Amino acid sequence: MIYHSTRGASGEIGGCGAVARGIAADGGLYIPEEFPHISPEDIEALAGMDYIGRAKAVLGLYFPEFSEVEMQALCEAAYGGEKFDCEAVAPTVKLNDDTHILELFHGPTCAFKDMALQMLPGLLTASLRKTGEERKVCILVATSGDTGKAALEGFRDVRGSEIVVFYPRDGVSQVQKLQMTTQEGKNVHVCAVAGNFDDAQTGVKRVFADAETEKLLNDKGIFLSSANSINWGRLAPQIVYYFSAYCDLLNEGVIKCGDLVNFCVPTGNFGNILAGFIASLMGLPVGRFICASNANDVLTDFIRTGTYDRNRDFHTTISPSMDILISSNVERLIYLLSDCNAKLTAERMKSLSETGKYSLSDMESAVLGEYFWGGCCDDEATKAAIRENFTEFGYTADTHTAVALSVLADYRRETGDDTHTVVVSTASPYKFCDSVLSAVKGGEYESTTALFAELEKATGVAIPAPLAGLAAKSVRFTDCIEKDKLRDHVLSVL
Ligand SMILES: *Cc1c(COP(=O)(O)O)cnc(C)c1O
Repeated sequence: MIYHSTRGASGEIGGCGAVARGIAADGGLYIPEEFPHISPEDIEALAGMDYIGRAKAVLGLYFPEFSEVEMQALCEAAYGGEKFDCEAVAPTVKLNDDTHILELFHGPTCAFKDMALQMLPGLLTASLRKTGEERKVCILVATSGDTGKAALEGFRDVRGSEIVVFYPRDGVSQVQKLQMTTQEGKNVHVCAVAGNFDDAQTGVKRVFADAETEKLLNDKGIFLSSANSINWGRLAPQIVYYFSAYCDLLNEGVIKCGDLVNFCVPTGNFGNILAGFIASLMGLPVGRFICASNANDVLTDFIRTGTYDRNRDFHTTISPSMDILISSNVERLIYLLSDCNAKLTAERMKSLSETGKYSLSDMESAVLGEYFWGGCCDDEATKAAIRENFTEFGYTADTHTAVALSVLADYRRETGDDTHTVVVSTASPYKFCDSVLSAVKGGEYESTTALFAELEKATGVAIPAPLAGLAAKSVRFTDCIEKDKLRDHVLSVL
């Protein structure tokens, strides 16, 4: 299995190398030369397995460097034990006769990032060993909320790793802050930055670029790496649950093997939905991918017009994990659409960074439109979707999932397509309890742990254990540093 950079850097690399490096030397993203094929018989075999078995079978195709025993151990470490609060790991639940919901929030941090970030640490440290790296890896993260916590929980006490997370003092909810500052584990470090998310992000980028820091850490046998969603090790584990959802529908008798299914995905960085697209290229029978955005509608326009144009206002919404104008995984999509033309992809990425936009050819746009449909909705429609699905079907959706539900209704109205659809749910409603409660009950709330009991009473959905215990946990990390002091902090804790 050979991987290439989307921008064409020469030199062949395997799956472990791609995960160990994270990003290619030319700034491109790693992508396999070919996608392994999964036949209808293979899908039927997967349907007989549990989630760990499905993960081992699908992921194993992308990492032939690992033996079956090694792959089994990696998948058990990620998805086994008590880490997920239900045996199915990623259960598919019925919403109504035409729609199922794939719940990806049963992991330790109650958001879909767990699906990849429970897997990445094991995959990364094992890949480093395979590629002969002997130094310790230190993961450096700037977070606006969900990623930081999921990365901390994934890397906690993983041998050969340390993790340092910076969050903006003025940019996370009380629940998100508590989730991070009470983090357990011997190798974890959490610190607030006096400023907003951009200050934290810029600070982290500076530490990565600083040659002196690199040398000082190297002398201690440490090197820095990132856990962001462009790493192939975060994308690959996400392919699994698309197959898994299809298998669940087969087992429930909702579909027959070979029937087409649509997926509707609340999208930010385009990582989740791209993993689904890759599953379909491997042979999963998918009709359409419905790409759902909030008021930040750059992807909707891209899918409808073939022009990606980030020159527009940035909106802060109640689905903050999708507040994004540059969706980095689109680079892999346009590489595939261009028939793996790395030169063209590099030119388009250059154009994106210089002018904020680029356009596909008419042919590429047509192919894009065959696979994808794009839609968006504002906060009001998001809340309306939460309210309607709660009253009509008794389902409590979080704000991100609600964007998908709202856009799916638009899609069905506009196209008349009645293909059975799986809505991908990316967070527990408790993670965004203030907005969910406001949608269900009316009124305005602040996101605090005190709100959990009220949401439980209003919806009947049990408080997830990791959040229920939060208020009683002791705070371990209280440091808050100036925005030009990230480097000093990293050097002092490592
Ligand atoms: C990260 C995230 C998303 C967006 O996923 P992408 O892979 O970036 O498209 C959606 N919802 C939630 C809750 C998230 O945390």
